[in-house]
Amino acid sequence: MSLAMVLRGLQSSLDHEKTLRQSLEHEIDERKNAEQDLRDSEMQYRLLAENVSDVIWTIDKAQRFTYISPSIQKLRGYTPEEAMLIPLENTLTPVSYEKAVFVMVEELAIEGDPGVLPDRSQVLELEHIRKDGSTVWGELTTSFIRDEDGLPSGIIGITRDITDRKRAIKEKALLEAQLQQAQKMESVGRLAGGVAHDYNNALSVIIGFTEMAIDDVDPDGLQHDNLNEVLNAARRATDITRQLLAFARKQLITPRVLDLNENVESMLKMLRRLIGEDIDLSWLPGTSLWPVKLDSSQIDQMLANLCINARDAIDGVGKVTIETGNADFDEANCADHSGFVPGAFVQLAVSDNGCGMDKEILDNIFEPFFTTKDVDKGTGLGLATVYGIVKQNNGFINVYSEPDKGTTIKIYLPRHEGNAAVIQDKITTEIPTGHGETVLVVEDDLQILKLARQILEGLDYTVLTAGTPGKALELVKTHAGKIHLLVTDVIMPEMNGRELAQQMKSLYPELKRVFMSGYTANVIAHHGVLDKGVRFIQKPFSRRDLAITVRKALDDLSE
Ligand code: ADP
Ligand code: MG
Repeated sequence: MSLAMVLRGLQSSLDHEKTLRQSLEHEIDERKNAEQDLRDSEMQYRLLAENVSDVIWTIDKAQRFTYISPSIQKLRGYTPEEAMLIPLENTLTPVSYEKAVFVMVEELAIEGDPGVLPDRSQVLELEHIRKDGSTVWGELTTSFIRDEDGLPSGIIGITRDITDRKRAIKEKALLEAQLQQAQKMESVGRLAGGVAHDYNNALSVIIGFTEMAIDDVDPDGLQHDNLNEVLNAARRATDITRQLLAFARKQLITPRVLDLNENVESMLKMLRRLIGEDIDLSWLPGTSLWPVKLDSSQIDQMLANLCINARDAIDGVGKVTIETGNADFDEANCADHSGFVPGAFVQLAVSDNGCGMDKEILDNIFEPFFTTKDVDKGTGLGLATVYGIVKQNNGFINVYSEPDKGTTIKIYLPRHEGNAAVIQDKITTEIPTGHGETVLVVEDDLQILKLARQILEGLDYTVLTAGTPGKALELVKTHAGKIHLLVTDVIMPEMNGRELAQQMKSLYPELKRVFMSGYTANVIAHHGVLDKGVRFIQKPFSRRDLAITVRKALDDLSE
C-alpha cells in the first residue's frame, strides 16, 4: 500500500467521521429544537390554561384531579392545590354530582370502545360548592383523554362561570310573568270598569229615589222598613262596584298626605266588628311613622279586604295582628328579596294564625276572580283589588304564608317627603240646604237628571236641567237670571263636562262647577287623580252627598 493510498484511506475515514459527527450534531440540534419546541408549546398551553378566566382541569380514571388551572380561585375560592385535594363528590352539590356521574357512565358506555365513535365533547351545567359554602353555576365542556390504545384514561374539561347568565334567565322569566300578569289585569280591569260604570248609574237612581220615597212615608210604618232594606242593599251593591272600579283602577282618587296610624285607628272599631268576637285583633302601631300620600278610602278598602281574608282563614278562635312601621331598603336588601324596590317605605302588615296557603294557592292569590271559597263567600277580587291599589300608589306587596301556620301580608307604600296635613273634615250632621240659588244640571242619563232635579229642588235650589251639553249652552245664553252653579256629568256625547264648563266660564266667569261621574277617564283627571280645586261627586251619590258637595261649591269652601 502506498503512502498516498494510506493517506487517502485516512482522509476518507476522517471524512466519514466528520459526516458522522455532523449528522450526529445535526440530530442533537434537532432533538434540542424539538425539546425547545415542546417546552415552548407546553409553555404556551400553560400560559393559556393559567390566564383564561375559564377553569381548565383534568381528572384521571379514579376521578382524582390531576390538574386545575389557577382561575379556580375566582370560581370557587380555593387555590388550585387546595381544590385538587377535594374529591369530585364534594366539589359539586349532590344533585349535580349525581348528574355528572350519570353522564360519565353513559359516555363511557358509548365511547369506551376506541374508534367506534369520533370523540365528541359533552356540555353540562353543574352547581359547584365554593369555599365559603355558597354555590356557583358552571358550564362544563368535557372530552375523554385517551391512552396509546385509544382507551379513555381520564377527562379534560373547561368550566365557565354562568351564574350571571342563569340569573339573567331567571330575571327574564320573572319579568315576562309580571308583564303577562299586568296585561291580564289590564283587560279584566277594563271589563270590570265598564260594567261598574253602568251599574253606578242604575244604583244612583235606585238610591236617590228610595231616599226620597223614605222621606214621604210614615217613619213607623212597614213601608219605611222595606224601603230601608232596599237602600241597604243598594249601598252594599255600591260597595261592590266601588271595589270593581278600584280593581279596574278607574276609581277617582284624591290622594292626601296622611298618617297611616291615624287611618288604621279610625278603622279599628269597624274591623273588630268585621272579624267577629272569637278572633282577637291586636294593633301594633309603629312609632314616628313617615307620612304616605294616598286616598284614605283606599287604605280602608285594603284593610277591610285583608281582615276579611284573615277572618275567613281562621276556623274558630284565632288572632289577627295589624302592624305599621318604617322600612328603608337599599340595593342589597332588594337583591335578596325578589319584587322589592329600593327606597323609603311605610309598611302595613296584616297577619293571622289561620289556615295559611300552599305554594299553588300562593301563586294565584292576586289573580282576579281566583278564590278557594264557596260561591257565596268569595269573589276572588279582594287581593286583586289590594294589588291594584298598591300598584297605583307605586308600592309593592310581600306575602309570607305556610299551610296551617298562618299568613302575613305586608304592603309597602312609598314614604311621602313632608309632613302629614291635618285633615279637618267637619262632621256635618245636618243636610245643608240652598237659599234659592240657581243650579244648572247637565246629564245625559235622564233618570239621573230627574233625580238630581228632585233632590236639589227639595233642598230649596232653583234647578235648570239639560240633557246634552248643546242644550245647556243654549239655556245659558237665553236664561234671563243668574246661574250660580253648574253640576255636570263628565262623559257625555258631543262634548265632555270639562269642555262644557270651560265654554260656560267664558260667559259666566263666576260660575262654580261640580263634576259627577261613575268613573273618570283621564279627561277630568290626570292619571285618575283629580285636579286641585275641582269639585267632584262620585256616582252613585246620596241626597246628603249631593247636598254637601253643592253647598261647599257654592260657599267656595276648601275641602
Ligand atoms: P276571596 O277572599 O274572595 O276568595 P281574595 O282575592 O281576597 O278572594 O283571596 C284569594 C284567595 O287567597 C282566597 O280564596 C284564599 O284562598 C287565599 N287567601 C287570601 N288571604 C288569605 C289568608 N289570610 N289566609 C289564607 N288564605 C288566604
Ligand atoms: Mg277576600
